[in-house]
Amino acid sequence: MSQRLCGQRVLITGASRGIGRAIALAFAREGANLALLATKREALDELVQSTPLKDANCTLLQVDVRDRQACFEAVREIEQGLGGIDVLVNNAGIHRSGAFLDHSPDDFQALLDVNLFGVVHLMQAVLPGMKDRAKGSIINMASTAGKWGSRNQSAYNVSKHALVGLTRCVALEVAASGVRVNAICPGFVQTDMVEDLKRGYAQVAGVDIEGIIQATLSRIPIGRILDPEEIAHMAVLLASDESKAITGQSILVDGGMLLV
Ligand code: NAP
Repeated sequence: MSQRLCGQRVLITGASRGIGRAIALAFAREGANLALLATKREALDELVQSTPLKDANCTLLQVDVRDRQACFEAVREIEQGLGGIDVLVNNAGIHRSGAFLDHSPDDFQALLDVNLFGVVHLMQAVLPGMKDRAKGSIINMASTAGKWGSRNQSAYNVSKHALVGLTRCVALEVAASGVRVNAICPGFVQTDMVEDLKRGYAQVAGVDIEGIIQATLSRIPIGRILDPEEIAHMAVLLASDESKAITGQSILVDGGMLLV
C-alpha cells in the first residue's frame, strides 16, 4: 500500500454508491481520513459495515447537496471534527434522459440544482479554510457530456458543461493561494446511473436495451464499459501531491470515446 493520501482529510459527496463508493475505498487504502456524504444514511451505514471502510476513520453525513445551509453546516462539522478539509470530491450527481423538446424547465433546474449548485455550495463552504491553510485539492465529477453534445440528454450535458466551466474559473481564481481545482470526465462507467441511462435512452429512442448496449459499446474504442475503480485511480492522482502542477483541467477517463 502506497499511502499516497496518508492523513489527508477528504470529503466525498455521493459516496454511497457507484463511482463515489469506489473513490471512498481507494482513498481509504491510501490512508485518508474520510467524510462520506449522501442523501440516504442507511446506504452509507451499509457501505461502511460491509467493506474495509469499517477499519477506516469515517464520518458519515446525510446531506442533500441542494441544501446550501446543510452543506455549510456539514463542512463546519467536519472541520471541527478533523481540523480541516484538504480534499473535496464533488461526485454526487443525477441524470435525466429526454429529447430537448420534451424537457421542461423543471428538468433543467433539477439537473442544475444537484450537478452545478451542489458543487457551488460545497466549494464556497470549503474554500475559505483551504485558502487559509494554503492547501487544497477540489475534484469535480463532470463527464464526457461536459465536453461534447449528446442526443436525448441536453439538460444533463448543460449541467456538466457548466461544471467544466466552473472548474476552470475557480481554479484560476484560487491558483495563487495553493488550492487546485480539477474535473474528471468519465465516459460510460458501470453504476446504477448507467443502467438508468440505458433504460431511459431505450425508451426515448424506442429501441430495446440490447440495441442500446451494442450502440454504446461501439462508441468506446477500448470496447468495454469502465469500472468505477478506474475513475477512482484518477481521483487519487488529483488528490495527491503527484499532481501538484495540475489545475483547471477536465481530464477524460473514457476508454478513448472522444477520439471517434
Ligand atoms: P450513481 O450510481 O447514481 O450514484 C450517485 C450518488 O450521488 C449516490 O451516492 C447518491 O446518493 C448521490 N446523490 C445523488 N443526488 C444527491 C444529492 N442531491 N445530494 C447528495 N448526494 C446525492 O451515480 P454514478 O454513476 O456513480 O455517478 C457519480 C458521478 O459521476 C455523477 O456526478 C455522474 O454524473 C458522474 N458520471 C457518471 C458516469 C457513468 O457512466 N456512471 C459517467 C460520467 C459522469 P443517494 O442515493 O443517497 O442520494
